[in-house]
Amino acid sequence: MKSSRLCKEDYEEVKSMLSMRQVAEFYGYKIQRGSTCLCPFHNDNHPSMKIYSDDKGFYCWVCGTGGDVIKFVGLLYGLGNEDACRRLIEDFSLPIQTENLSYREKRERQNRHNKYVEIQKFKKDAYAILREYWKLLCDATRQFSSPHFAEAMQELTIVEYRLECLRKCPEEYFKDREAVRKLGEIERRIAGWNVLS
Ligand SMILES: [Zn+2]
Repeated sequence: MKSSRLCKEDYEEVKSMLSMRQVAEFYGYKIQRGSTCLCPFHNDNHPSMKIYSDDKGFYCWVCGTGGDVIKFVGLLYGLGNEDACRRLIEDFSLPIQTENLSYREKRERQNRHNKYVEIQKFKKDAYAILREYWKLLCDATRQFSSPHFAEAMQELTIVEYRLECLRKCPEEYFKDREAVRKLGEIERRIAGWNVLS
């Protein structure tokens, strides 16, 4: 039976379900300190391949090879994108059915995909807000006379913690209504920052 072609959602789902670290380790590349490992794409004897901090991609600063989990497997086994994607689905037994989907299954998958896109957008926007606030707070901690000094001393570690949560598990962050509400507050706080100081 000829298998049907994978669609964009298949690729997105595979990428959302796997981390780069997980994939590299599965195929035998041990991740070392500083999120680096030996690069499979050149004769590497000192770890030169870096796993991105969002854990979704890699880059080797010696041979310049980089990409996402699908590209990694494709290059490793000489496969095109489609076969690399199928290989990941098989090797990790991902619950992604690519053949003969019913209307309902297609719709459910579309919903999952939309949710994924929504979370990615939330992550990007939330990161920009927190990062901006973090920078403002850092500046304020260096100026004792700043009207924001007390706030900065109190909030800086909290913001760092929130950034870490966002990086590790944006889905949880997104579900946490209180955290999302706080984000709106921070956004307004930033907007009024220069006026206050
Ligand atoms: Zn390399």
